[in-house]
Amino acid sequence: MKNDCLFCAIAAGEIPSNKVYEDELCYAFHDIAPQAPTHFLVIPKVHIASVSGINAENSAVVAHIFEVIAKVTKEMGIESYRVVSNIGEQAGQSVPHLHFHVLAGRDMTWPPG
Ligand code: AMP
Repeated sequence: MKNDCLFCAIAAGEIPSNKVYEDELCYAFHDIAPQAPTHFLVIPKVHIASVSGINAENSAVVAHIFEVIAKVTKEMGIESYRVVSNIGEQAGQSVPHLHFHVLAGRDMTWPPG
């Protein structure tokens, strides 16, 4: 756990959140400012700053997170959705702890804004 990291504190239960799923490796919770009827975030419990911080030592958790996304969306009855991860300021990353947005429930446009 990294000091002063919002999502480390959420994963540890120190800051309240609206939980979607949790296991020993990851935590999923509803986004506080939803951009679609369904919008939740999936984060590793271990602190990784962004996709740029993924390496051979820590990448197993990312495969696990995608398994969780597939399972949780199926359980929610969601067949079509978008998974997004912003990396760095220009791409719109506002929280420097790796997270995958899962968005569903409305038509999506491409390219993204
Ligand atoms: P990004 O801007 O891609 O880094 O995504 C960060 C996301 O975290 C944004 O969609 C925020 O709305 C969301 N967020 C920030 N603080 C909280 C919080 N306390 N609980 C839930 N979601 C949050």
